[in-house]
Amino acid sequence: MRFEILTIFPEIFRGFFEFGVVSRARKTGIVEISVRDLREFTHDRHRTLDDRPFGGGEGMVLKAEPLAEALESIGIRPVSERGSDSQESVVLLSAQGRPFTQAVARELSELQRVVLICGRYEGVDERVNALYCDREISIGDYVLSGGELAAAVVLDATMRLLPGVLGNEASSEFESFGAGDGAIATDVEGVPRSQHGAGGLLDYPHYTRPAEFRGLAVPEVLLGGDHAAVRKWRREEQLRKTLRNRPDLIEAAVRGGGLSREDLRVLERLRGEGSGSVPSSRL
Ligand code: SAM
Repeated sequence: MRFEILTIFPEIFRGFFEFGVVSRARKTGIVEISVRDLREFTHDRHRTLDDRPFGGGEGMVLKAEPLAEALESIGIRPVSERGSDSQESVVLLSAQGRPFTQAVARELSELQRVVLICGRYEGVDERVNALYCDREISIGDYVLSGGELAAAVVLDATMRLLPGVLGNEASSEFESFGAGDGAIATDVEGVPRSQHGAGGLLDYPHYTRPAEFRGLAVPEVLLGGDHAAVRKWRREEQLRKTLRNRPDLIEAAVRGGGLSREDLRVLERLRGEGSGSVPSSRL
């Protein structure tokens, strides 16, 4: 899969691509990433990328011409000329975009090519969005200074869903927001399945050695080797954490029929214990 990033600050990405999963995915050739400097597509002496907004107001606007030229230089045609079965997506990173979720990452991971446009200043001239972009994506309800961090987030979350990128094929299925149980065909050899997802719940808590750290012991059940008990405990912790931190995901899972009868029984008990409320230590 190919990612192409258009930015006025290409250096921002350098470190990010050289470590961990992203670096490995590049080395194995599963992912190709290129970053293009928008200044290369300016033609005046000052290499101008921004201009004042029509209608007046604060700040500057990232001009349409360098962006259009950069897109055309990599063979991107206007949306109106791309077929509905296109295997590519041109994404504008924008605080005004649709929320980026695991489902959107999954959608993108099924394509062959994703172009990520990083805005700056007050944003990108809207005609770039209208002409070339088939997606406008926000990574959250806050305003960043530029689209570069957002592009890195979208790239990272998408690329780790590609087959072969994570060491263990099933890893991404068993994480927060993972697929529903019905969509997971196999157990991971020898490891109790977490039964992740079931409609997209959060992950359960993880522990590693030492078994005791600053007076806090690892839950006993994780030390005993009883896989069924571990699985049950993890499921309960998933439900507890999701209820506490993201009750909206519980509601969605209930509505989507993704929870088992046992899950619903556990939820009722957790609600009775007050696990849905935020502990005062976290406020
Ligand atoms: N005037 C814009 C607004 O109020 O929506 C904010 C522009 S912001 C300072 C500059 C650039 O950062 C945007 O063009 C966009 O590319 C990026 N950006 C800011 N917040 C973002 C978010 N939540 N998700 C994705 N990109 C974001």
